[in-house]
Amino acid sequence: MTRILLLGGTTEASALAKTLAEGGADAVFSYAGRTAKPVSQPLPTRVGGFGGVEGLSAYLKAESITHVVDATHPFAAQMSTNAVHACTAAGTPLCAFERPAWQAGKDDRWIHTDCIEGAVNALPTAAARVFLAIGKQNLTQFAAKPQHHYLLRLVDAPEAPLPLPHATVEIARGPFDAAGDTGLMQRHGITHVIAKNAGGAGAAAKLTAARDLGLPVIMIGRPQVPVRPIKGSVAEVMAWLSHSPV
Ligand code: NAP
Repeated sequence: MTRILLLGGTTEASALAKTLAEGGADAVFSYAGRTAKPVSQPLPTRVGGFGGVEGLSAYLKAESITHVVDATHPFAAQMSTNAVHACTAAGTPLCAFERPAWQAGKDDRWIHTDCIEGAVNALPTAAARVFLAIGKQNLTQFAAKPQHHYLLRLVDAPEAPLPLPHATVEIARGPFDAAGDTGLMQRHGITHVIAKNAGGAGAAAKLTAARDLGLPVIMIGRPQVPVRPIKGSVAEVMAWLSHSPV
């Protein structure tokens, strides 16, 4: 009997959950529990960390999981690394469901960096107005450049004071569109955009808007994750599930 653990937190994970539920699959959806009101899923859902590699290995055994699909965000490197190690230890087939990284087009003005610190360093010395579109994590590092005004777009209102002296918070949940993001950037007089190279359509609007407005984008490259099979669509994941031995 196939029993699937779907590690979620992305649009892709929600699309896969819908297909699995429609097909009557025996599957559990897992959220980290980072947002106050996560998107509800048509599958039984658990919330919260597993307790590292050991905790996940124990969970796979206790729940008789036969397949794991890691559809977490490309920047959720700790979860993805844990999944590789726990599935290897448990002998459980694992695949990642991941969208391809965005690529710069000829009219884009991207500055590439491979980490948050690199993005901080890439900001100018003179005061700028920065659309810091990286979610709520890693904001503290931008306190090293307090002269800038930061526009943050967050799913939930911050629970603690922000570590940035000049910041505006926009509460919104994607997907976003280019016209909306262009208007947002114009209203806030944005001069620089900082983005994680998440890929996918839902968060790409800010890149289109930056291109249309001629703004530089400081693009943070994806973190390293151990090698695992990667599928790029719901159909590919479903084919992998039907062909992977239990
Ligand atoms: P992370 O650094 O890779 O994960 C930290 C810890 O959170 C993991 O070790 C695990 O705890 C727990 N965790 C993460 N994803 C989980 C899941 N789907 N189910 C159960 N536990 C999970 O991840 P993160 O960057 O904090 O991201 C957390 C979640 O937000 C992910 O599910 C991701 O898909 C989503 N998300 C992340 C970003 C981003 O930019 N990082 C953006 C959008 C959405 P234990 O070690 O205790 O198991």
